[in-house]
Amino acid sequence: MKAFEKNIRKVEPYVPGEQPKRQVIKLNTNENPYPPAPGVSKALMQMDVDRMRLYPDPTASDLVHTLAEYYHVQDEQVFVGVGSDDVLAMCFLTFFNSDQPILFPDITYSFYKVWAELYRIPYECPAVNDEFRIVKEDYYKANGGVIFPNPNAPTSIYENLEFIEDILQHNQDVIVIVDEAYVDFAGRSAIELIDRYENLLVVQTFSKARSMAGMRIGYAIGNATLIKYLNDAKYSFNSYTMNQTSLACGVEAVVDKAYFEEHVSKIKDTREWTKKELAKLGFSFPDSQANFIFATHEKYDAKELFEALKAADIYVRYLGGERIKNYLRITVGTKEEMETLIAFLANYNR
Ligand SMILES: *Cc1c(COP(=O)(O)O)cnc(C)c1O
Repeated sequence: MKAFEKNIRKVEPYVPGEQPKRQVIKLNTNENPYPPAPGVSKALMQMDVDRMRLYPDPTASDLVHTLAEYYHVQDEQVFVGVGSDDVLAMCFLTFFNSDQPILFPDITYSFYKVWAELYRIPYECPAVNDEFRIVKEDYYKANGGVIFPNPNAPTSIYENLEFIEDILQHNQDVIVIVDEAYVDFAGRSAIELIDRYENLLVVQTFSKARSMAGMRIGYAIGNATLIKYLNDAKYSFNSYTMNQTSLACGVEAVVDKAYFEEHVSKIKDTREWTKKELAKLGFSFPDSQANFIFATHEKYDAKELFEALKAADIYVRYLGGERIKNYLRITVGTKEEMETLIAFLANYNR
């Protein structure tokens, strides 16, 4: 090792799902199979190239205001960033500065561990139970902050607001972050609790239900004090995080509520159909309330099945890891894509 290497920050990075160049049935990164709302392509067409000389609005005020109206909160209660990964990383930096460990489940979004390591935040990972449910009593102990997705990923399990409130009631002296990347496919959002719990921050994204993973837009909603602290950290890091194009397209994706609801409902229908078909083929899985199904089969090796699917141009996600080594995470695509998947599985190992 060269002497200078000892002063280099070494991190074990998050490994994103594959983005193949070829056209495949892509069920590996929980993207939406449908295009964004029609207003988004209009906004793109109307982009003024000359404006690119200028920096974007550092406050992202149009997008912030549009989101605030949509969720019936004040503009001061909304923070936006370059995908929720950017927002979440900023939250780790801003809110998790205790000597006590932060808490998140052992089976969850694997980026949490990466940010904790990157920022040298101590952490503990209480185990989810045998049904992959978060055990709320594990979050009653002293800690430096709490974060979990709801629905959780990759388990797909949604916990109701009573559960969230119980965790909040036991954690009033630290920041509690609920990562709601998939909540639109599930049920009520914890946003309705922010007025009662000033330590609650809810993070959402345009990448899943709003079909805009490629645009990189995420946001946090919470009380104005927390949002101010987030903005202070952002302006100490990079003032111009979001580009003009994303800002304009983001607004259009939010205002078209009818399009949004129609397509979320389509995905939920396809999810329910896929669950039935997978069950008929002997797969088992938690009762997904997200846009993916976390499935296992007692007769099949998940890694082998993953490879076989890939050879047939059907990409799903194999995450590996001790407790989930025989599971595949399968994104809900279009009905046609799921029919192709089911047809493949029906003939597998025959
Ligand atoms: C997809 C996902 C995110 C990140 O999404 P962005 O594309 O960065 O907005 C965050 N949390 C969870 C649990 C996710 O699944």
